[in-house]
Amino acid sequence: MIRKVAVLTSGGDAPGMNAAIRAVTRSGLKMGLEVFGVYDGYRGLCEGKFEKLNRRSVSETIAKGGTILGTTRLPEFEQYETRLLAIEQLENYGIDALVAIGGDGTYRGALALSKMGVKVVTIPASIDNDVGGTDYAIGFETALNTIIEAVDKLRDTSSSHRRCSIIEVMGRNCGELAITSGLAVGAEVVICKELGFNLEDVLENINQASKVKRHAIVIVTEKMVDINELAKAITENTPFESRATILGHVQRGGKPTPHDRVIASLMGAKAVEALLEGQNGVCVCMVDNKIIVRPIEEALQDNRNTVLEKYNKFKMLW
Ligand code: ADP
Repeated sequence: MIRKVAVLTSGGDAPGMNAAIRAVTRSGLKMGLEVFGVYDGYRGLCEGKFEKLNRRSVSETIAKGGTILGTTRLPEFEQYETRLLAIEQLENYGIDALVAIGGDGTYRGALALSKMGVKVVTIPASIDNDVGGTDYAIGFETALNTIIEAVDKLRDTSSSHRRCSIIEVMGRNCGELAITSGLAVGAEVVICKELGFNLEDVLENINQASKVKRHAIVIVTEKMVDINELAKAITENTPFESRATILGHVQRGGKPTPHDRVIASLMGAKAVEALLEGQNGVCVCMVDNKIIVRPIEEALQDNRNTVLEKYNKFKMLW
Protein backbone atom coordinates (compact mmCIF):
# COMPACT_ATOMS: atom_id res chain seq x y z
CA MET A 1 0.00 0.00 0.00
CA ILE A 2 1.26 3.48 -0.89
CA ARG A 3 1.05 6.26 1.69
CA LYS A 4 4.06 8.44 0.96
CA VAL A 5 5.17 9.46 -2.51
CA ALA A 6 8.18 11.55 -3.59
CA VAL A 7 8.53 13.59 -6.77
CA LEU A 8 11.70 14.86 -8.50
CA THR A 9 12.82 16.49 -11.74
CA SER A 10 16.03 15.34 -13.41
CA GLY A 11 18.20 15.91 -16.49
CA GLY A 12 17.51 18.83 -18.82
CA ASP A 13 14.82 21.19 -17.54
CA ALA A 14 11.72 21.87 -19.59
CA PRO A 15 8.87 24.40 -19.25
CA GLY A 16 5.87 22.60 -17.79
CA MET A 17 7.83 20.55 -15.25
CA ASN A 18 6.28 22.68 -12.50
CA ALA A 19 2.79 21.94 -13.74
CA ALA A 20 3.63 18.22 -13.52
CA ILE A 21 5.06 18.59 -9.97
CA ARG A 22 1.92 20.50 -8.99
CA ALA A 23 -0.36 17.84 -10.45
CA VAL A 24 1.49 15.00 -8.69
CA THR A 25 1.31 16.95 -5.42
CA ARG A 26 -2.30 18.03 -5.63
CA SER A 27 -3.66 14.73 -6.90
CA GLY A 28 -1.52 12.81 -4.39
CA LEU A 29 -2.86 14.92 -1.50
CA LYS A 30 -6.39 14.52 -2.78
CA MET A 31 -5.95 10.75 -2.73
CA GLY A 32 -4.83 10.95 0.90
CA LEU A 33 -1.10 10.51 0.26
CA GLU A 34 1.77 12.38 1.87
CA VAL A 35 3.85 14.03 -0.85
CA PHE A 36 7.55 14.91 -0.67
CA GLY A 37 9.51 17.03 -3.13
CA VAL A 38 13.11 15.95 -3.78
CA TYR A 39 15.47 18.81 -4.63
CA ASP A 40 18.11 18.53 -7.39
CA GLY A 41 17.08 15.28 -9.05
CA TYR A 42 18.90 12.02 -8.33
CA ARG A 43 21.68 13.91 -6.54
CA GLY A 44 19.20 15.27 -3.99
CA LEU A 45 17.66 11.81 -3.74
CA CYS A 46 21.04 10.37 -2.70
CA GLU A 47 21.69 13.29 -0.33
CA GLY A 48 18.24 13.20 1.31
CA LYS A 49 17.15 16.66 0.14
CA PHE A 50 13.45 16.01 0.78
CA GLU A 51 10.72 18.43 1.75
CA LYS A 52 7.16 17.60 2.64
CA LEU A 53 4.80 19.39 0.26
CA ASN A 54 1.34 20.73 0.92
CA ARG A 55 -1.21 22.38 -1.36
CA ARG A 56 0.39 25.78 -0.82
CA SER A 57 3.88 24.51 -1.70
CA VAL A 58 2.85 24.36 -5.35
CA SER A 59 0.61 27.43 -5.45
CA GLU A 60 1.30 29.80 -8.31
CA THR A 61 3.78 27.45 -9.98
CA ILE A 62 1.70 26.33 -12.96
CA ALA A 63 2.75 29.32 -15.08
CA LYS A 64 6.43 29.22 -14.13
CA GLY A 65 9.16 27.88 -16.41
CA GLY A 66 12.09 25.84 -15.08
CA THR A 67 11.55 23.55 -12.10
CA ILE A 68 10.92 24.67 -8.53
CA LEU A 69 12.62 21.47 -7.34
CA GLY A 70 15.80 22.11 -9.31
CA THR A 71 17.56 19.53 -11.47
CA THR A 72 21.08 18.17 -11.76
CA ARG A 73 22.99 15.54 -13.68
CA LEU A 74 24.57 12.75 -11.65
CA PRO A 75 26.47 10.31 -13.90
CA GLU A 76 27.40 8.22 -10.82
CA PHE A 77 23.75 7.22 -10.58
CA GLU A 78 24.58 4.54 -13.15
CA GLN A 79 26.47 2.77 -10.38
CA TYR A 80 24.64 0.35 -8.13
CA GLU A 81 26.35 1.70 -4.98
CA THR A 82 25.14 5.26 -5.69
CA ARG A 83 21.59 4.04 -6.15
CA LEU A 84 21.83 2.23 -2.80
CA LEU A 85 22.31 5.68 -1.18
CA ALA A 86 19.06 6.81 -2.80
CA ILE A 87 17.23 3.74 -1.55
CA GLU A 88 18.57 4.34 1.95
CA GLN A 89 17.18 7.89 1.90
CA LEU A 90 13.80 6.73 0.60
CA GLU A 91 13.69 4.22 3.47
CA ASN A 92 14.73 6.90 6.01
CA TYR A 93 11.77 9.01 4.99
CA GLY A 94 9.45 6.00 4.68
CA ILE A 95 8.72 6.82 1.04
CA ASP A 96 6.78 4.09 -0.75
CA ALA A 97 7.02 5.33 -4.34
CA LEU A 98 8.82 7.83 -6.56
CA VAL A 99 7.67 9.93 -9.53
CA ALA A 100 10.61 11.02 -11.72
CA ILE A 101 10.04 13.74 -14.33
CA GLY A 102 12.63 13.99 -17.12
CA GLY A 103 14.00 12.50 -20.31
CA ASP A 104 15.49 9.17 -21.42
CA GLY A 105 18.41 9.44 -18.95
CA THR A 106 15.98 10.00 -16.09
CA TYR A 107 14.00 6.98 -17.33
CA ARG A 108 17.12 4.79 -17.28
CA GLY A 109 17.85 5.89 -13.70
CA ALA A 110 14.23 5.18 -12.70
CA LEU A 111 14.29 1.76 -14.36
CA ALA A 112 17.49 0.87 -12.52
CA LEU A 113 15.86 1.90 -9.22
CA SER A 114 12.74 -0.09 -9.98
CA LYS A 115 14.87 -3.19 -10.64
CA MET A 116 16.23 -2.69 -7.13
CA GLY A 117 12.72 -2.81 -5.68
CA VAL A 118 11.68 0.87 -5.66
CA LYS A 119 8.18 1.62 -6.96
CA VAL A 120 8.66 4.18 -9.74
CA VAL A 121 6.62 6.01 -12.36
CA THR A 122 8.16 8.46 -14.84
CA ILE A 123 6.74 11.45 -16.72
CA PRO A 124 8.31 12.60 -20.02
CA ALA A 125 9.73 16.13 -20.11
CA SER A 126 12.12 17.29 -22.82
CA ILE A 127 12.09 20.32 -25.07
CA ASP A 128 13.50 18.10 -27.85
CA ASN A 129 10.49 15.73 -27.68
CA ASP A 130 12.92 12.83 -27.79
CA VAL A 131 11.58 10.63 -24.99
CA GLY A 132 10.87 7.01 -25.92
CA GLY A 133 7.36 5.61 -25.95
CA THR A 134 5.44 8.88 -26.06
CA ASP A 135 4.26 11.08 -28.90
CA TYR A 136 4.73 14.13 -26.70
CA ALA A 137 7.11 15.25 -23.96
CA ILE A 138 6.37 18.24 -21.72
CA GLY A 139 8.14 21.43 -22.82
CA PHE A 140 8.32 20.84 -26.57
CA GLU A 141 5.57 23.25 -27.55
CA THR A 142 6.86 26.05 -25.32
CA ALA A 143 10.35 25.72 -26.82
CA LEU A 144 8.83 25.66 -30.29
CA ASN A 145 6.96 28.89 -29.51
CA THR A 146 10.18 30.55 -28.33
CA ILE A 147 11.94 29.60 -31.56
CA ILE A 148 9.09 30.75 -33.76
CA GLU A 149 8.82 34.08 -31.97
CA ALA A 150 12.55 34.68 -32.43
CA VAL A 151 12.56 33.64 -36.10
CA ASP A 152 9.55 35.84 -36.88
CA LYS A 153 11.47 38.80 -35.46
CA LEU A 154 14.60 37.90 -37.40
CA ARG A 155 12.53 37.59 -40.55
CA ASP A 156 11.31 41.19 -40.21
CA THR A 157 14.84 42.56 -40.13
CA SER A 158 16.31 40.10 -42.66
CA SER A 159 13.57 40.98 -45.12
CA SER A 160 14.31 44.71 -44.72
CA HIS A 161 18.00 44.10 -45.46
CA ARG A 162 17.65 41.30 -48.04
CA ARG A 163 19.37 38.81 -45.83
CA CYS A 164 19.44 35.11 -45.16
CA SER A 165 19.03 34.31 -41.45
CA ILE A 166 20.57 31.15 -40.11
CA ILE A 167 19.13 30.11 -36.75
CA GLU A 168 20.73 27.41 -34.62
CA VAL A 169 18.22 25.58 -32.45
CA MET A 170 18.53 22.78 -29.88
CA GLY A 171 17.99 19.10 -30.65
CA ARG A 172 21.35 17.62 -31.57
CA ASN A 173 19.97 14.07 -31.24
CA CYS A 174 16.44 14.74 -32.42
CA GLY A 175 15.54 17.24 -35.13
CA GLU A 176 11.87 17.60 -34.28
CA LEU A 177 12.24 21.17 -32.97
CA ALA A 178 14.11 22.12 -36.16
CA ILE A 179 11.69 20.43 -38.56
CA THR A 180 8.56 21.66 -36.80
CA SER A 181 9.80 25.21 -36.40
CA GLY A 182 11.03 25.16 -40.02
CA LEU A 183 7.56 24.16 -41.11
CA ALA A 184 5.91 26.81 -38.94
CA VAL A 185 8.09 29.70 -40.15
CA GLY A 186 8.31 28.58 -43.78
CA ALA A 187 12.07 28.04 -43.71
CA GLU A 188 13.93 27.51 -46.98
CA VAL A 189 16.24 24.92 -45.46
CA VAL A 190 16.29 22.70 -42.37
CA ILE A 191 19.52 20.98 -41.36
CA CYS A 192 19.33 18.33 -38.64
CA LYS A 193 20.52 14.83 -37.86
CA GLU A 194 17.63 13.13 -39.66
CA LEU A 195 17.82 15.26 -42.85
CA GLY A 196 21.59 15.61 -43.02
CA PHE A 197 23.59 18.46 -44.55
CA ASN A 198 24.67 19.06 -48.13
CA LEU A 199 26.10 22.53 -48.82
CA GLU A 200 25.33 22.40 -52.56
CA ASP A 201 21.65 21.67 -51.88
CA VAL A 202 21.49 24.46 -49.32
CA LEU A 203 22.98 27.01 -51.76
CA GLU A 204 20.69 25.81 -54.55
CA ASN A 205 17.58 26.26 -52.35
CA ILE A 206 18.64 29.71 -51.25
CA ASN A 207 19.49 30.82 -54.78
CA GLN A 208 16.02 29.65 -55.87
CA ALA A 209 14.45 31.60 -53.00
CA SER A 210 16.41 34.72 -53.90
CA LYS A 211 14.55 34.91 -57.23
CA VAL A 212 11.22 35.41 -55.51
CA LYS A 213 11.88 36.63 -51.96
CA ARG A 214 13.72 39.32 -50.06
CA HIS A 215 14.85 36.95 -47.34
CA ALA A 216 15.60 33.33 -46.61
CA ILE A 217 15.60 31.30 -43.42
CA VAL A 218 17.80 28.34 -42.55
CA ILE A 219 17.10 26.37 -39.35
CA VAL A 220 19.93 24.18 -38.15
CA THR A 221 20.36 22.06 -35.03
CA GLU A 222 23.42 22.47 -32.83
CA LYS A 223 26.53 20.42 -33.66
CA MET A 224 25.53 19.88 -37.31
CA VAL A 225 27.63 22.60 -38.96
CA ASP A 226 29.67 25.66 -38.04
CA ILE A 227 26.96 28.25 -38.64
CA ASN A 228 29.42 31.12 -39.11
CA GLU A 229 31.13 29.15 -41.89
CA LEU A 230 27.73 28.41 -43.38
CA ALA A 231 26.81 32.12 -43.24
CA LYS A 232 30.06 32.93 -45.07
CA ALA A 233 29.34 30.35 -47.79
CA ILE A 234 25.82 31.72 -48.29
CA THR A 235 27.07 35.32 -48.44
CA GLU A 236 29.72 34.37 -51.01
CA ASN A 237 27.56 32.13 -53.20
CA THR A 238 24.07 33.63 -53.18
CA PRO A 239 22.62 37.17 -53.58
CA PHE A 240 21.86 37.24 -49.82
CA GLU A 241 24.12 38.52 -47.13
CA SER A 242 23.83 35.98 -44.34
CA ARG A 243 23.81 36.30 -40.54
CA ALA A 244 23.92 33.55 -37.97
CA THR A 245 22.03 33.53 -34.65
CA ILE A 246 22.43 30.92 -31.93
CA LEU A 247 19.26 30.82 -29.81
CA GLY A 248 20.91 28.75 -27.05
CA HIS A 249 19.43 28.35 -23.59
CA VAL A 250 16.66 30.90 -24.11
CA GLN A 251 14.84 27.90 -25.68
CA ARG A 252 14.68 26.13 -22.31
CA GLY A 253 12.97 28.94 -20.45
CA GLY A 254 9.72 30.84 -20.45
CA LYS A 255 6.15 30.42 -19.33
CA PRO A 256 4.77 27.05 -20.42
CA THR A 257 2.10 27.22 -23.12
CA PRO A 258 -1.47 26.18 -22.25
CA HIS A 259 -0.85 22.86 -24.04
CA ASP A 260 2.23 22.11 -21.92
CA ARG A 261 0.39 23.05 -18.72
CA VAL A 262 -2.59 20.86 -19.55
CA ILE A 263 -0.58 17.83 -20.71
CA ALA A 264 1.74 18.13 -17.69
CA SER A 265 -1.27 18.30 -15.37
CA LEU A 266 -2.93 15.26 -16.96
CA MET A 267 0.35 13.32 -16.88
CA GLY A 268 1.03 14.21 -13.24
CA ALA A 269 -2.41 13.01 -12.19
CA LYS A 270 -2.00 9.86 -14.30
CA ALA A 271 1.30 9.04 -12.55
CA VAL A 272 -0.39 9.10 -9.12
CA GLU A 273 -3.34 7.08 -10.43
CA ALA A 274 -0.93 4.46 -11.84
CA LEU A 275 0.90 4.14 -8.51
CA LEU A 276 -2.36 3.73 -6.62
CA GLU A 277 -3.41 1.02 -9.09
CA GLY A 278 -0.24 -0.84 -8.15
CA GLN A 279 1.69 -0.12 -11.36
CA ASN A 280 5.46 0.02 -11.10
CA GLY A 281 8.37 0.58 -13.50
CA VAL A 282 6.04 2.36 -15.90
CA CYS A 283 6.09 5.71 -17.69
CA VAL A 284 3.22 8.01 -18.50
CA CYS A 285 2.91 8.46 -22.27
CA MET A 286 0.75 10.24 -24.77
CA VAL A 287 -0.14 7.87 -27.59
CA ASP A 288 -2.67 8.89 -30.25
CA ASN A 289 -3.83 11.72 -27.99
CA LYS A 290 -4.51 9.40 -25.05
CA ILE A 291 -2.60 9.50 -21.77
CA ILE A 292 -1.61 5.94 -20.92
CA VAL A 293 1.13 4.11 -19.02
CA ARG A 294 3.51 1.50 -20.40
CA PRO A 295 6.64 -0.24 -19.10
CA ILE A 296 9.70 2.05 -19.02
CA GLU A 297 11.76 -0.77 -20.50
CA GLU A 298 9.47 -0.95 -23.54
CA ALA A 299 9.46 2.85 -23.94
CA LEU A 300 13.26 3.02 -23.91
CA GLN A 301 13.37 0.53 -26.79
CA ASP A 302 10.88 2.45 -28.86
CA ASN A 303 12.72 3.52 -32.01
CA ARG A 304 9.88 5.06 -33.94
CA ASN A 305 11.26 7.81 -36.09
CA THR A 306 8.31 10.15 -35.89
CA VAL A 307 10.52 13.07 -36.92
CA LEU A 308 11.12 11.70 -40.40
CA GLU A 309 7.47 10.71 -40.66
CA LYS A 310 6.54 14.31 -39.95
CA TYR A 311 9.06 15.60 -42.48
CA ASN A 312 7.90 13.23 -45.21
CA LYS A 313 4.31 14.30 -44.64
CA PHE A 314 5.16 17.96 -45.26
CA LYS A 315 8.08 17.52 -47.70
CA MET A 316 6.21 19.09 -50.59
CA LEU A 317 6.27 22.41 -48.69
CA TRP A 318 10.03 22.65 -48.89
P1 ADP B 1 17.46 13.50 -19.42
O1 ADP B 1 16.67 12.84 -18.33
O2 ADP B 1 16.97 14.88 -19.74
O3 ADP B 1 17.62 12.60 -20.63
P2 ADP B 1 20.24 12.93 -18.65
O4 ADP B 1 20.50 12.04 -19.83
O5 ADP B 1 21.29 13.88 -18.22
O6 ADP B 1 18.92 13.81 -18.84
O7 ADP B 1 19.89 11.96 -17.43
C1 ADP B 1 19.54 12.51 -16.17
C2 ADP B 1 20.15 11.68 -15.07
O8 ADP B 1 19.63 10.35 -15.09
C3 ADP B 1 21.66 11.48 -15.17
O9 ADP B 1 22.40 12.59 -14.71
C4 ADP B 1 21.85 10.28 -14.27
O10 ADP B 1 21.82 10.66 -12.91
C5 ADP B 1 20.59 9.45 -14.56
N1 ADP B 1 20.90 8.38 -15.54
C6 ADP B 1 21.10 8.50 -16.86
N2 ADP B 1 21.39 7.31 -17.43
C7 ADP B 1 21.37 6.40 -16.42
C8 ADP B 1 21.59 4.98 -16.34
N3 ADP B 1 21.90 4.26 -17.42
N4 ADP B 1 21.49 4.40 -15.13
C9 ADP B 1 21.18 5.12 -14.03
N5 ADP B 1 20.96 6.44 -14.04
C10 ADP B 1 21.06 7.09 -15.20
